[in-house]
Amino acid sequence: MTMPDFALLLRPLQLYPWHFVVLTLLAALFGAALFAVLVYRRQLKWQQETAEQLEENIQTRTFELQVALNELADKNRILEEQNTQDALTGVRNRAYFDKKIQAELKRSRREQRPLALVMLDIDHFKQINDNHGHLAGDAVIRGVAEKIAQLLKRSSDHVCRYGGEEFALILPNTDAHGVVELAEQIRLSIAASPFDTEIGPLPVQISAGCYAAVAAPDMVSTDFIHAADQALYQAKTAGRNQVILAAASDAATPVAASEGNTDELVQ
Ligand code: GH3
Ligand code: MG
Ligand code: MG
Repeated sequence: MTMPDFALLLRPLQLYPWHFVVLTLLAALFGAALFAVLVYRRQLKWQQETAEQLEENIQTRTFELQVALNELADKNRILEEQNTQDALTGVRNRAYFDKKIQAELKRSRREQRPLALVMLDIDHFKQINDNHGHLAGDAVIRGVAEKIAQLLKRSSDHVCRYGGEEFALILPNTDAHGVVELAEQIRLSIAASPFDTEIGPLPVQISAGCYAAVAAPDMVSTDFIHAADQALYQAKTAGRNQVILAAASDAATPVAASEGNTDELVQ
């Protein structure tokens, strides 16, 4: 390009300098606006990606947390099972009984349904221990627990080892007729066939005291326990190997429910 050509090119600038300035400013503004839009869009995209990543991380962490919580709940359940399980027999222990009877008493009162309790004790157990040793005694306790557990029909029924060779059966929604029928079935079943132990088969008999009632507003769990215990005591003094039902109206006045063989079974 020759000098005159170049001067020709600059001619409009000389003729319209303000137009040139305005055009340049407009171009600069447009450029700046375009740059701002591009930066904004990039920023938006980055924010979206970050939010998605964050959401994904939260979901992963939530899932991991849920898995950990489930594992913890499972372990707690197993621990709870172990804490409420009797080591010798595998049935529920006394601590479980104490909680459960109170819970069922409240439920009986709330739902106005009868609650039944059986206190069950092996007859002349000391003699089994003395004559055949504690291991044989343990085997008998285990066998009785197993037999009771087999004979309970409802998942809401519970057999607990109350202590030594004594068991407590919590039977929600069971009336006097039902509890005696079940206790009798257990008594007969235990007496029917000897128990297998290391020293050979051992005949076993049990006595049981029952109590059934809809929990009155002023009743506490010890009222049920006391009533069933008194009936058990009556069964023992009346000759053992029998089931006695305490009167629903007066827990202190047990009435005879059934009688089996009296006291002849001592090994
Ligand atoms: P009763 O017919 O009046 O019930 O007489 P019993 O001989 O069964 O008398 P009692 O119920 O008082 O006997 C309980 C015995 O049970 C006393 C204790 O030595 C024994 N015992 C308690 N716990 C265990 C146990 O875990 N294993 C064994 N082998 N014996 C136990
Ligand atoms: Mg006994
Ligand atoms: Mg006893």
